[in-house]
Parts: sequence; C-alpha cells; structure tokens
Amino acid sequence: MAPEYLEIVPATPVVSERNDNLAEAERIRRLVALHGSPLLILDCEAVRRQYHALQAALPGVDLHYAIKPLPHASVIATLRDEGAYFDLATNGEVDMVAEAGVDPIRTIHTHPIKRDSDIRYAMEYGCNTFVFDNPDELKKFIPYAGKVNLLLRLSFRSPDAKIDLSKKFGCSPDAAMSLLQQAADLGIRVKGVSFHVGSQALEPTKHVEAINACALIIQQARAEGLPALEVVDIGGGFPVDYIDQVQPIDTFCAPIRAALATLPAGTRLVAEPGRFIAAPAMTAVSSVMGKAMRDGRWWYYLDDGVYGSYSGRIFDYNHYPIDSLDFFGERSPSVLAGPTCDSVDVIEDDIMLPELDCGALIVGRMMGAYTSATATDFNFFKKAEIVVINEHVAEECDVVPLTA
Ligand SMILES: *Cc1c(COP(=O)(O)O)cnc(C)c1O
Repeated sequence: MAPEYLEIVPATPVVSERNDNLAEAERIRRLVALHGSPLLILDCEAVRRQYHALQAALPGVDLHYAIKPLPHASVIATLRDEGAYFDLATNGEVDMVAEAGVDPIRTIHTHPIKRDSDIRYAMEYGCNTFVFDNPDELKKFIPYAGKVNLLLRLSFRSPDAKIDLSKKFGCSPDAAMSLLQQAADLGIRVKGVSFHVGSQALEPTKHVEAINACALIIQQARAEGLPALEVVDIGGGFPVDYIDQVQPIDTFCAPIRAALATLPAGTRLVAEPGRFIAAPAMTAVSSVMGKAMRDGRWWYYLDDGVYGSYSGRIFDYNHYPIDSLDFFGERSPSVLAGPTCDSVDVIEDDIMLPELDCGALIVGRMMGAYTSATATDFNFFKKAEIVVINEHVAEECDVVPLTA
C-alpha cells in the first residue's frame, strides 16, 4: 500500500483543505515558471510558526536558532524580528547575524573546538559566551578571563538518535567537577552547562536524563564552593515529521518542561533548535530531465539530487516526503535519481509514483534543514535557487503573479 503522504488529495477532502492544496500547487507552478528548476521555496511564515510553537512548548526558555541547518539571511531576519536568540558556531555564522544587525547580547557561540582567531572574531562582534569541553580548550580563554562567560558542554551518549552529537563533543559528567575547578583556578567564569543529545530525537528521554544530570552537577558545584552555574542549555534535537510522524512538539516537550521545573529557581534556560525551526520552511521542486524503464521499473532522472538539495539523504540519513505535483493515477514502484553521472546519486530507489512525463515537477517537503546547507555543485549541476515567500508578516504571499 502506498504510504499516507503520497495522497495529495484526500479521499473526502475538506473543501478549504483542497483549495489550499490547489493554491499551493498553483504557486509552485508560478514560481517554477518565474525562476526555473530546481528550486527551493523558503516560507518565512513556516519559520515564524515553528518558532512560536516551540516557544509555547518551552515557556521561559530562550530559543537560540542554531544557524547551520539553514544559514539563510531571510531566516535570520525573520527570527530576529520575532525576538529570537541565535546560536553561532563559525565566523561565517557570526557574519550572518552581524549583517542582520542582531544584538550580540542575543547570541552564544557553541562550537566546542575553536581557534584563537575564531574566539577573537566572535568577541569583536560582541558575542562573549562560549562553550568548552576539555582542558586544552579552556586554556584558550586565559587571555580573555573576565571578558567571557563559558558553558561546559556535557556528553550524554544517545545511540538511538539518528545523529549522535555526544560522540564527537562533550565531557563526561564525571569530568565536570575537575574542569569547573580548573576554570575557577584560572579565573575564567563558567556560567553554566550545556548539552546536545543528538538531532531528530524521537523521544524526550535523553533530554530529561541530561537535565537531571545537569541538576546534580549544579548541586555538586555548589557543595564544592565553585561559582554558581546559572545557565542550563538543553541544545537542539527537537523532532519534525518527515515520512513518519513524531510526537507533537507540545507532547514531546511536556516531560522536558517538568524536568526544567526542578532546576534551581532563577536558572536561565536556553535551547538551540535548528531542525525544528528550519525543516518545514523549505519545499524542493525539481523536474524530470529524462526517464528510462530499467528492470521493469521507471527511473526518473531529476535536475536535483543527493549532491544538491537532497544531500540530506547522505549527510542527514534522511528520507523526505516526495511526490509529483501534477500527475495522478495508478502508482508503481519507481526510482528517483539525481542528475549527476555518479551511481550514488539516487534519491529514492523504491517510491510509489504515477507514470511521469519529462518536465513533470517533483515536490519534496520538509526540505529546510540540512539540505541546501550541505549541497554541492558536483558535475556542474548548479545548486537549487532559493526563493523566499512570506518574508514580511501579514502578507498573503510575496509571489508576483505571472500576468502582472
Ligand atoms: C547542529 C546543532 C544544533 C541544532 O540541532 P538540531 O538537532 O538541528 O536542532 C544545536 N546546537 C549545536 C551545538 C549544534 O551543533
């Protein structure tokens, strides 16, 4: 049976829903007529919606958008206007927020491994909160003691998360007291603790366990007379629906809220959502360049693939809800391949599709996070152009009608 997401038009459509689908299809056709294919449609209204949904699910938590899943100026500007905070990791990300006129007080720098030049670059912008997880990184802040606040990044392994970030960064909770003591001896202020349980966490369990472990470390630091740990940064990992549905964000965050409520009163709470804000914000549109029947299945060769917008198939281990825009009818197992001459460039090798003609448009949903950010122009296939819609609040849609 075809997966549910393939049903563009439900069997008994609610009229308004059907009209929404038709209006969206019309908008996609217009944008492709204007800008060509492949295309990524970035909807700033989705950015606002996701930001507010997470804010509602995590009241009292400052949301620092982690820029790396979708480093786009319109996303930064949209979130800046909503009053969001930002999580920076590289000089390029510092440039993005600086160019957007983001007040540096709203930013933290969370890359656990930096060069001295990176630290100075962020400080020149005005960001003075940094992350460390080992003694050698701590020593880099000796020249800036008194000018910076640090967060100690802890590692809680989560082998069930799709991307286990605690494998690469973070100190074990056992090492925390020694690192906090070293910082105190050097006169470097450690303001709090942080962690990242891994991206697209399907259960909130790891967040909850990590928050509880942070609570113990805060107590222990106090008992040992170390400077108070006033910040708990719970990182990212908030999940979105791709092909499988995940828990609604409010459900997902309920146990996290309960765990946060046990932290000492006055603790400043921070999160670093990336995927949750970015993923629903982009829709990919590509065209069938050619087709071939091979071993009883249609192969469709698109003008975008795993070296382009669908790079998340490789780097993010992800599958996206994909369907044809216009073609309906009987579906059969098909292959969707990218345009390059490399055989790894296959987006889906068993997807139910109606028979498509050359030029047919293929739509990929939930394509905002870790997609164009990791795209290449391998084989001289240009990266998909990003067109921005709904950049300003209360505008129906910024699209210029074709007939205008
Ligand atoms: C990538 C990253 C994030 C964003 O994680 P998501 O799972 O996309 O929310 C947050 N913080 C840090 C330090 C990261 O490296």
